[in-house]
Amino acid sequence: MEDLLKNLVKNNQAKSKLGEVANYIPELDKAKKDALGICIYDINGNEYCAGDCEEKFTIQSISKIITLMLAILDNGEEYVFSKVGMEPTGDPFNSIKKLETSSRKRPYNPMINAGAIAVSSMIKGKDAREKFQRLLDFVRKISEDDTLDVNYKIYCGESETGNRNRAMGYFLKSQNIIEGNVEDALDVYFKQCSIEATAKNLARIGLFLARGGKTSTGEQVINPRIATIVKTLMVTCGMYDSSGEFAVRVGIPSKSGVGGGIVSVVPGKMGIGVFGPSLDKRGNSVAGVAVLEELSKELSLTIF
Ligand code: GLN
Repeated sequence: MEDLLKNLVKNNQAKSKLGEVANYIPELDKAKKDALGICIYDINGNEYCAGDCEEKFTIQSISKIITLMLAILDNGEEYVFSKVGMEPTGDPFNSIKKLETSSRKRPYNPMINAGAIAVSSMIKGKDAREKFQRLLDFVRKISEDDTLDVNYKIYCGESETGNRNRAMGYFLKSQNIIEGNVEDALDVYFKQCSIEATAKNLARIGLFLARGGKTSTGEQVINPRIATIVKTLMVTCGMYDSSGEFAVRVGIPSKSGVGGGIVSVVPGKMGIGVFGPSLDKRGNSVAGVAVLEELSKELSLTIF
């Protein structure tokens, strides 16, 4: 397995030339463009890694699956999906247009920014600080890594440049989709995007979902129903407006972030974490997607 992963990294590293590192915050632009790493934890907890899998990056949109789990734990499935839909949009992740024009009157799904900001507003806590601390404790628990934390330079950049997200937040507030304080919801959102992790951490989170919401100690942190909802939304909406193509080419429930990370889940089999900061036009890691496509073919991992 380790040899296979080394070859996948070697074969696909050059593809990073085809993309660009995210640069809407100067701090993100510092990532090494051709970095590439993959880590797998199989269902028995065996670890296989190749390339830059200890390199830290911010999880960005991958945080959307984490807040979704905690928001459902905090509020129940019915409440969460009364405010946010379950349908893919086919639009870019930060698109604003369907928010007002669709008859649904709520964000299409929790994986686009509008839906994710609404979900962040549902995390319980007396203020933004307590809400975020609960989220951080939750991600530390499911990744089994107590050292995970926020990159504060990136958080400041997210907040300073996040006017489009702010606009969506205030619109959601005006529609009563966000019931609490909108600035608190935005602050939680900017911080969750700025959590730093490695491909290894992502593989652990993938394994947690592959086990139906259990950690390696056997603790059932979320019920399997929540894990199923999250994995399903990863298939339909997890790779932005490339989710359909990714499902055909790779066929593994996955969620990407503009920091270059991808977390993938082969239910009952393994969790996979990939890092490659050079992104395609949709915001997915170019080399990362290529590695996953080859891995899926080699090991017949498609769930379809
Ligand atoms: N912080 C980014 C944003 O809100 C995250 C987006 C992403 O990873 N797609 O625009």
